[in-house]
Amino acid sequence: MIASAGSDCDVLVLGLGPAGASAAAAAARAGARVIGLDKRAVAGLPVQCAEFVPLSLGAEVADLARDVVQPIEAMASYTEGDGPRRDPLPGHIVDRARFDAHLVETARGAGAECRFGRVVAEVRDGGVRLTDGSEVSARLIVGADGPHSLAGRAIGSVNRVLSHTRQITVPLVVPHRATDIFLSASTPGGYGWLFPKAEVANLGIGVDASERRWLRILLEGLHATLVRRGRVGWDVRAITGGAIPAGGLLRPTGALGATPVLLAGDACGLANPVTGAGIASAVVSGRMAGEAAVAIVAGRGAALDDYAEEIADLFGPALDRARRRREGVMAAHAAGRLGPNELQRSWIAWESYWSDPFDAVSLAEGVAA
Ligand SMILES: Cc1cc2nc3c(=O)[nH]c(=O)nc-3n(C[C@H](O)[C@H](O)[C@H](O)COP(=O)(O)OP(=O)(O)OC[C@H]3O[C@@H](n4cnc5c(N)ncnc54)[C@H](O)[C@@H]3O)c2cc1C
Repeated sequence: MIASAGSDCDVLVLGLGPAGASAAAAAARAGARVIGLDKRAVAGLPVQCAEFVPLSLGAEVADLARDVVQPIEAMASYTEGDGPRRDPLPGHIVDRARFDAHLVETARGAGAECRFGRVVAEVRDGGVRLTDGSEVSARLIVGADGPHSLAGRAIGSVNRVLSHTRQITVPLVVPHRATDIFLSASTPGGYGWLFPKAEVANLGIGVDASERRWLRILLEGLHATLVRRGRVGWDVRAITGGAIPAGGLLRPTGALGATPVLLAGDACGLANPVTGAGIASAVVSGRMAGEAAVAIVAGRGAALDDYAEEIADLFGPALDRARRRREGVMAAHAAGRLGPNELQRSWIAWESYWSDPFDAVSLAEGVAA
């Protein structure tokens, strides 16, 4: 075990979602004294997720199968109601509450102390202060506290570009094995989705934060259309939503006085700006942050910069492409020319997403020409 030198713990993990639970598990496994704090009363609840994970997550999460509700084989992309274009995209729909609780159990099993119902009010040199006035001291802080991260704010890494979402869970009339994506000029910076989950479906809409006032009416419209088509029922079983970082990678490291801070998951902008997917990157970055944290408190200070470099190498290029595509969509929207072509060129199913230079700069040049 690493000496805590008078602190309550070596590594304090703020937030016990996928990133934080993975960080806590990795750091505890490597011998650090770990305390994890989360404001939620119970791990994973309330669920704010459409619950799709890629097949590859199985390599990172042992026993992922126990959280899987149904398989996904493909992605069906509709453009303004036309389509779909169908592409293979294997993955799973998980029970997100069970998945998050599972990751926390793994962290506890590795020796991390995971405390729920603890709201952190301030992140500072030497630890955190909770809203009840108590303090927890630490030699290093991992900020895994989501899109509005306090830890990130403390070191100047702030998610300024966000998508907002609204989602309902409704009965699924016809069993389905694809994630349906609805691209439309009415949802700039986002899209509509139907993700099947056995007998129900997660039906949602995401848009740029500037358009969030339309979310409710857009989702009611999508719901009514899909009821008319005989795909889903009227009964709304659950309502959720939340923000998703959409501005790309933030600087994932910093320091508060003598206390190193590492960010993981949504806290450092790892959700994909176009698809909104962030579970897998949260789990992977959380594990990497936990491992780096242990190296740093054991005296290998260079592990801080190594972590930043590895995160940039692993996630930077894909996030950068997605950020540019989303900026292109928002520029087209602002110019009043967001149509089917622009929507398709900016969605992962189309070849042009991967090859086209389409972005805010090239669009501005196109407008000027
Ligand atoms: C509607 C919706 C649908 C989505 N669908 C998908 C999907 O299908 N697939 C996918 O891959 N991604 C999806 N995402 C994105 C995905 O949910 C996130 O990228 C992922 O949860 C990031 O994990 P995280 O651990 O970084 O952050 P979070 O899961 O947000 O966890 C952060 C934790 O920090 C805690 N916390 C925050 N502030 C404090 C504080 N001050 N004190 C104490 N605790 C605090 C929170 O309670 C929370 O438990 C979706 C997001 C939304 C909103």
